[in-house]
Amino acid sequence: MELEANRLGLLESVLGAVHLGAIVLDSQGRIVLWNRWMEQYSAMPASDVLCRDFYTLFPEMRSQRIGMAIQQALVSNFPSLLSQTLNKSPFPLHANRSAAARGERLQQAIAVTPVTMAAGAGERHCLIQITDVSIAANREKVLREQAMVLRSQTFSDGLTGVANRRHFDVAIDKEQRRAKRNGGKLSLLMIDIDFFKAYNDHYGHQHGDQCLIQVSAALTAMLHRSTDLLARYGGEEFAIILPDTDAEQAIKMAESLRQRVLALDLEHRYAAEGKRLVTVSVGVATHSPEQPFDVPALIGAADRALYAAKRAGRNCVSAH
Ligand code: GH3
Ligand code: MG
Ligand code: MG
Repeated sequence: MELEANRLGLLESVLGAVHLGAIVLDSQGRIVLWNRWMEQYSAMPASDVLCRDFYTLFPEMRSQRIGMAIQQALVSNFPSLLSQTLNKSPFPLHANRSAAARGERLQQAIAVTPVTMAAGAGERHCLIQITDVSIAANREKVLREQAMVLRSQTFSDGLTGVANRRHFDVAIDKEQRRAKRNGGKLSLLMIDIDFFKAYNDHYGHQHGDQCLIQVSAALTAMLHRSTDLLARYGGEEFAIILPDTDAEQAIKMAESLRQRVLALDLEHRYAAEGKRLVTVSVGVATHSPEQPFDVPALIGAADRALYAAKRAGRNCVSAH
């Protein structure tokens, strides 16, 4: 008898010491056990909740997943696990008073298990175990945010912040699929800084980088449609995808871009020709819906137009 009493005392201490919430309900849904962890994080002493109906205390839980899980345990003898992603924080549990004041609940993983006495006698009870998964949940959130940052970094150019070549490849592929579905014109501009090697050689690589940043910002400022995409295509070469833009509109756009870069008024004393300012040459190619959309052919056409602009003396626009 004494041994039995000791065992019960020990069990009670163990339940009080565990680092998880334990609630036991009887078959009528009355609370018959509320351990110390629950007292601590709910700020409700066991004496306030014992013998009370669970749903009188937590009426909103009747219609939640946890209510269903309790029902299943008591009636059908089925256990349930409630993942913290679906059922964020059903119990009003708080790390401390200030978290409670802010309404910040512990993130909870919950297991609802039917329990019967060892001998199989007596009514069925249900054990609700609550684990604090706030740390894991926050770590997951941080990782998700980092993944988003990394994802955006893999698609943008580290120096200028505009889309990188990979982003360009994905975007032009998407445009190709879109053009196949619903036709439509699309133009591609290839923009290359003139005499940039000489710029680097004379002003230094760091000034060269600054120049690239300024030129790409000037180009970005000229794009007004959300579907237009500016990408750094290679060293000092940029590409712009202009969906739903015909050749005439694209040439106008190219001319405005050329003027905009000139208007930056960036000194380039070592440019072999012209104004002794940083300038760009632009090649324009347009896909028209009569032909099949061929990405390499379109890029090739824009490239050839760009070289035509270079041959024509640079700081100008040429269309394929
Ligand atoms: P062109 O007028 O015919 O375009 O002549 P160019 O000198 O601009 O052309 P070229 O292709 O000979 O030189 C391109 C230069 O761009 C060479 C390279 O040093 C420079 N460059 C490429 N990427 C970067 C970069 O990220 N930063 C800097 N500072 N320079 C770069
Ligand atoms: Mg160049
Ligand atoms: Mg080049």
